[in-house]
Amino acid sequence: MNEEAELLRQRGEAVIHLGIGEPKNKAPINAILSSAAKLNTGDIKYSPSDGIPSLKKAIITYTEENYTKIPDPANVIVSSGAKQAIFNVLYTLLNPQDEVIILAPYWVSYPEMVRMAQGVPVIVTPEDGGLHPRMEDITQAVGSATKAIIVNSPNNPSGLVFSDEFIAQIVQFCEKRGIYLIMDDIYHKLVFDGRKPAPCYEFTDNEIEDSKIIVINGVSKLYGMTGFRIGWAIAPEKLVKIMTNVQSQVTSCASVVLQAAAEGALTGIQSIVEGLRLTIENSRNIIMKELEAFEGVKVTKPGGAFYCFPDFSAYQKNSVELSEFLLRRALVVTVPGKEFGMEGHLRLSYAGSVKDITEGIARIKWALDPDSPNEIYVGNRKLVRDWL
Ligand code: PMP
Repeated sequence: MNEEAELLRQRGEAVIHLGIGEPKNKAPINAILSSAAKLNTGDIKYSPSDGIPSLKKAIITYTEENYTKIPDPANVIVSSGAKQAIFNVLYTLLNPQDEVIILAPYWVSYPEMVRMAQGVPVIVTPEDGGLHPRMEDITQAVGSATKAIIVNSPNNPSGLVFSDEFIAQIVQFCEKRGIYLIMDDIYHKLVFDGRKPAPCYEFTDNEIEDSKIIVINGVSKLYGMTGFRIGWAIAPEKLVKIMTNVQSQVTSCASVVLQAAAEGALTGIQSIVEGLRLTIENSRNIIMKELEAFEGVKVTKPGGAFYCFPDFSAYQKNSVELSEFLLRRALVVTVPGKEFGMEGHLRLSYAGSVKDITEGIARIKWALDPDSPNEIYVGNRKLVRDWL
């Protein structure tokens, strides 16, 4: 879809991208200065495989401030993005045929990563037809081969922030049953309506060292630093050791220049995160207003991240076909729900400009809803709907 959108763009078509997975801000100044200072030393070498000590220190402070637990440096490993951190965890944990519970709708990479580590993804879909996971569905799917459960809140693609009760229940369940709980917290500060997601460690009496919880985080989303590729995992020391072995054989370490940037972001002015959060919350309000006025579309209000996951099945059940149709007819990029394990939905991102959001939704409405005006202007071009 991205390739097709790019081709259309090159032909001069006014494509609107509602598929983007990153904030549009510039990198924080502290990140730029810190990485530039490192570059200026000319001393750009390998770092320890688990990360430079000063960045690990910044991550420890971050964890203390946001999770009320103080990890030991031996509990922290820095990777090239949260993505590599998750892969390291799965590669470390899984023996062939071990099962990992993945909650639909899920981030597209989880099942693929589990398979790459020779595990078996077990997809659990809420039986009530909603987007919020339910403990009863999860407990039914857990068996003797279950090694881990992945929880991602705020969620990609739904934008849902899972309830504190759910997080408490899943933490207690995993601790009791000896199942690893991988908390993908990459969006955890991008939450709206004055909410604060409860830190998972709050629900266990165990210290990090004895806990089954593994926390994944990074600078990609909070600081809009996706291209810097720095993420991390907090886990018991014995796991971090193996993850470090894995990483040392795959990439040696994350780049020292980019680690310096991440340290700059974490230790620098934090108002950038709040600024980003406010901008995104405003965009969430705008997209919700547009979607709620869209006859036939069902949408659950997202509490965080920068995605929503409306149900378009009243118009078209096949999300891949719908997404292709919208790109060709209305020049709007969306991501089919099928990729996230839920047909009938589209993932719409509101990380872009307000203009793109309002115009993008207006175009989708024009393409799908026979009650909307028959004609629409795309740039200077008038498009006429001749298929409804
Ligand atoms: N987890 C989720 C849920 C994500 O959406 C993403 C990025 N799209 C990642 C992890 C990976 O983040 P990073 O860019 O730090 O590798």
